[in-house]
Amino acid sequence: MQQAPTAMSMRSEYLKRVPLLRELNDQEIGKLAGRTREEVFMPGAPIVEIGEPGDCLYILLDGNVQVLYPARSGEFELARMGPGDFFGEMALLNNQPRSATVRALKPVRALALDKADFREIIAESPTLALKLLEVMSQRIRYADEQISGLSDKALRDPLTSLLNRRAFHERLIEECERSRRYGEHFSLILLDLDRFKSINDTFGHDAGDAILVWVGRMLTDHTRVADTPFRIGGEEFAIIAPATGMGVAHTVAQRLLDTLAEAKPPLEVQLRLTASAGFAACPDNGFQTDALFRAADQALIRAKQTGRSRACGPEN
Ligand code: GH3
Ligand code: MG
Ligand code: MG
Repeated sequence: MQQAPTAMSMRSEYLKRVPLLRELNDQEIGKLAGRTREEVFMPGAPIVEIGEPGDCLYILLDGNVQVLYPARSGEFELARMGPGDFFGEMALLNNQPRSATVRALKPVRALALDKADFREIIAESPTLALKLLEVMSQRIRYADEQISGLSDKALRDPLTSLLNRRAFHERLIEECERSRRYGEHFSLILLDLDRFKSINDTFGHDAGDAILVWVGRMLTDHTRVADTPFRIGGEEFAIIAPATGMGVAHTVAQRLLDTLAEAKPPLEVQLRLTASAGFAACPDNGFQTDALFRAADQALIRAKQTGRSRACGPEN
């Protein structure tokens, strides 16, 4: 007479098909099945919560989960997992609190394995340990790429892909600090497109956007590798030029304005796009970011007031 499969043998059958456990023999699988317990979670329920101590590993039988990582703008979905996947292993190995939250998307059935059992089973099976290392190193690399991309996103302007105003402020503080400590000088150039509102009004906002992207590329292409262009406002750009004094800053600013005025913007019609620039230098205009920015901004205002399409420096 054929016996009905027990819950334990069904669990073993299932565990044999989990990719992580494929190399284990029947005895090892049986032992693992005996140590696990089944848990059920409703959609939306947290299975693992960030900051909590990690006390077990989960192997998903049914349903889907999302792995959520904290970001400035709220939670960021690092991954989704389904049947056969496992999670919660990291905190069991590094003895740190949970580094992410895992939440059920659909009703979830999972097998939980306690920390001590998990460690014991790994210690007994080099094949499992090796497989786990492979999976974990892939996960760490992927998470690292995603998370560094996240912080990069917070510092980039989505239209032009240039660094944004926030990145500009951070960099200005760093450069002033470097200058104060090591006596290195650097320059700041602010660049504002001339009568850009009328370009938008005449050719439309999309054409205006295309011009801004084009200007961003020009600034990148026509500055030294060490110089960094930023988009700090609608049609306002900045360039931080390390190891550059006032005289060279003037030359660089004027060259950029000339290049812009001579190039052909990405429009059907002929258009001469000009810009005005103001520059200042550290330490000539002080070591304070505010003072330096104000000096360059006032110079820019003067360039606008005295006819546009020109570069002005601080008055002395
Ligand atoms: P000025 O020579 O005095 O700088 O004149 P302006 O028209 O460039 O200056 P103003 O500051 O009056 O207007 C800036 C314009 O830039 C307003 C807006 O239409 C345009 N602008 C700002 N951000 C964007 C953007 O992201 N896309 C587009 N297409 N236009 C933008
Ligand atoms: Mg402006
Ligand atoms: Mg303008």
